[in-house]
Amino acid sequence: MRLLLVEDDTMIGEAIRAGLKREGFTVDWVHDAGAAAQVLRTEPFSLMLLDLGLPGGDGLAFLKTLRQRGEELPVLIITARDAVSDRVSGLDAGADDYLIKPFDLDELAARIRALLRRKSGRPAPVITHLSVVLDPAAHRVSRDGTEVALSPREFALLQLLMERPGTILSRAQIEERLYGFGEEVESNAVEVHIHGLRRKLGAQFILNVRGVGYRVRPAP
Ligand code: CA
Repeated sequence: MRLLLVEDDTMIGEAIRAGLKREGFTVDWVHDAGAAAQVLRTEPFSLMLLDLGLPGGDGLAFLKTLRQRGEELPVLIITARDAVSDRVSGLDAGADDYLIKPFDLDELAARIRALLRRKSGRPAPVITHLSVVLDPAAHRVSRDGTEVALSPREFALLQLLMERPGTILSRAQIEERLYGFGEEVESNAVEVHIHGLRRKLGAQFILNVRGVGYRVRPAP
């Protein structure tokens, strides 16, 4: 899952990015609202983490603008503003959740997972499709009840496909959801990960729709 972090504090930003990377998220980090608006136009993110005190423009005003123009991206405000009135105005401006600094990275990751669940309309924390079960919080995958060891990229790719069992994702769509800015992507990276997943989960679990992309095998 690719997240956009809008945070001007270097130390906090680095800690959040490193912590969320360990949790399997891809994090693109910008330092102000202007840069955030720019990348949101071209890149597909699953969620935005938004600081409020930003150089050159308040995060809350930015959020209001985004919502006014119909942006549906889930937004989690991360800020040191801890007054009840700040939390209320943040949520009422269109934020989906609000976390006060300093916070625990485990709690941040859990709140992100909860928002992503809600966004995909899936109440259960664990994703099940056919004989495969994927647990985003525990980073575990099992097939017919037996645990399967996946690389972090294989895990992220599998989650992407399992969350949209009816959707065919092209190689380009997978790449832009899996890799952040400046990450070197080998031209055959997606094929290599698909190959690894098929080897571990069965050749028929992920289908290659010729000339279009990949999807998980539909339930019968
Ligand atoms: Ca700040």
